[in-house]
Amino acid sequence: MATHSVYIGLGSNLAGPEEQVQLAFKALDALPKTAVIQCSQLYASKPQGPQDQPDFVNAVCLIETELEPLMLLDALQAIEQSQGRVKIRRWGERNIDLDILLFDEAVISSERLTVPHPQIAHRDFVLLPLAEISAGLLIPNLGCVDDLISQLDTTYVKPWQAT
Ligand code: AMP
Repeated sequence: MATHSVYIGLGSNLAGPEEQVQLAFKALDALPKTAVIQCSQLYASKPQGPQDQPDFVNAVCLIETELEPLMLLDALQAIEQSQGRVKIRRWGERNIDLDILLFDEAVISSERLTVPHPQIAHRDFVLLPLAEISAGLLIPNLGCVDDLISQLDTTYVKPWQAT
């Protein structure tokens, strides 16, 4: 079986966001035929959707997996469910959000899955942790992660600090 290098984006702003992200790192590592290779530090970001919700804790990790894209998406959605995710509103608060950012160098456009993640170029809270663990990374059709960051206002993303 082929091994794939996949970047996962994580976000949480409910139910102990730091713990939720740490739990999700562990759950990813426990998936069959999958290992977490590298994790970014945690970042704090302002919500991009409705503003009447708590700030987010975000991170990115690199995994190696033998799961194919849709099987991996199923597994991520099962982790979201197991951590009690309930859909409240679009771009709203959630216990944990897991996104497939990049899957090898694949470009995927199907009903359930778009890779690279459709919002990747616009999300400072994704690009900063991604560049932290893989400076110079090339994103298919979009270019270098560092160039994408230079086009964004990154004022609202900071390294997360426990309060
Ligand atoms: P969200 O509210 O961000 O968790 O979006 C979940 C929906 O996005 C699901 O229905 C997925 O099928 C879809 N989706 C499309 N592309 C991706 C991706 N790259 N990673 C995760 N979910 C995706």
